[in-house]
Amino acid sequence: MHELSIAEELVRVIREELRIHPNAKLKTALVRIGVLRLIEPATLEFCFEAAACDSPLAGARLQVEQVEASARCCKCDREFPVEHNWFECPWCGETGSELLRGNELQLVSLEIEKEMANAYAVE
Ligand SMILES: [Zn+2]
Repeated sequence: MHELSIAEELVRVIREELRIHPNAKLKTALVRIGVLRLIEPATLEFCFEAAACDSPLAGARLQVEQVEASARCCKCDREFPVEHNWFECPWCGETGSELLRGNELQLVSLEIEKEMANAYAVE
């Protein structure tokens, strides 16, 4: 279950970010995750609670925003949704396309009491 290791990494990164707000209590952390990461949002949310429960983040909630995957054809420049055969452009059949979205794993925002921290990338 790779959700647990991701949850532990998120807890580590968030605690680092919250060092500048020593008295802050985290309410919600919003992460944006591309569907190509094959992460089950409900599982990750559950793992986050488990990973946070022995830390100052205990009680905080993880909110997962999923991002659909899409690519752009390098030949005809059209954008299309990424599916099983995504490397092949559905418009012209060209096989070299560039992935635009769908592989992200990003900490977007931290909602702490009365204060909103900025966005940080996890990797
Ligand atoms: Zn094309």
